Amino acid sequence: MKTRAAVSYQPGEPLVIEELEMDEPKAGEVLVKVKAVGLCHSDYHVMAGNRPVGMRPMVLGHEGAGIVEKVGAGVTRFKTGDHVVLMFIPSCGKCQYCVSGMTHACVWAINISKGPQLDGTFRLRNKKGQDVGQFCLLGAFSEYVIANENSLCAIDTSYSFESACLVGCGVTGGYGAAVNRAKVTPGSSVLVIGVGGLGMNIVQGARLCGAAKIIAVDVVTKKLEWARSFGATHTIDAGKEDVVTRVMEMTNGVGVHFAFEAISDPKTIAQAFAATAKTGSIIVCGLTPSTVDSLPISPLQLVLMQKTLMGTIYGSSNAQVEIPKILSMYKGGQIKLDELVTRTYALKILSMYKGGQIKLDELVTRTYALDQINDGYADMNAGLNIRGVVRFD
Ligand SMILES: [Zn+2]
Ligand SMILES: [Zn+2]
Repeated sequence: MKTRAAVSYQPGEPLVIEELEMDEPKAGEVLVKVKAVGLCHSDYHVMAGNRPVGMRPMVLGHEGAGIVEKVGAGVTRFKTGDHVVLMFIPSCGKCQYCVSGMTHACVWAINISKGPQLDGTFRLRNKKGQDVGQFCLLGAFSEYVIANENSLCAIDTSYSFESACLVGCGVTGGYGAAVNRAKVTPGSSVLVIGVGGLGMNIVQGARLCGAAKIIAVDVVTKKLEWARSFGATHTIDAGKEDVVTRVMEMTNGVGVHFAFEAISDPKTIAQAFAATAKTGSIIVCGLTPSTVDSLPISPLQLVLMQKTLMGTIYGSSNAQVEIPKILSMYKGGQIKLDELVTRTYALKILSMYKGGQIKLDELVTRTYALDQINDGYADMNAGLNIRGVVRFD
């Protein structure tokens, strides 16, 4: 069969939209018709060449949701018609981490940037007959995905794919960073540096944990306004104000109990470190470029102030359990998902956009067709979206 997909051929170059030849799902694999996929920064880092991958060409995209079209031999957990969220880290179910409930640390995670499926073979080829890899074993910027059944989480059919897809990465990553990794406590103070797709969900997670003070930091004014609607109690415009000075003012000179960094920049990680109170925690949530090999923080302060510096991936979540839980909180009104897809915000954003070059038809939507995926990433870099989503109609 064939599938249209967005393929990365060269680091630093836009994705190429092309038709690929696709195999049938092998034993233990599932063919998914993708319905919606989020434009996450991690794919952009690969596209831009900031993060190495095992090979190119590779189909990017990992924050997806869709419908099971067909199952391979031996698959018993899924059937045609099931709605699924794609998980960017699979869980083998057998390693010491999986059996301990820490599927985010599954030994299979080592394979997710290599390209081929877990058995070392490929499911996609381009017109020249080249093998094409699948980022995160998924490659969700594609009409169809063949994934291992252990990369899928079944969800209720009542959810819209546009909202559900975000739970595959950004929502679970941010929410889990607050709830599972930092274990934010009621009444505590929280700093979130960078309130995009990941940071906005750290704000939501911290709110659900009962944090009394949630300080959101960004350089995009609109994102700070959004952050308030997601639960931030204070905001700092890092383009105009010194972050550490303002945090100290907001916390009576003490600093915050939990400082999350969701930008992946050594400078902002250092700000998070400096803005943390004695015995507080710094949680680094984003993926820095692989060329970054040091942090400008004081080891002396680490000791004297008894701070804890920690990292987290996938919100340290057992995604198979967490994804349905987050969706049920969305249904119950405790978690916002629709507002993360900035489509509904497009009118407001663009009406604020100065310069007067904006045309009416551009106001319509911030969801994209697959062919517009590179525009979606340009919008992300321009700060126009919390999350842009590619929709397959
Ligand atoms: Zn992601
Ligand atoms: Zn495992």
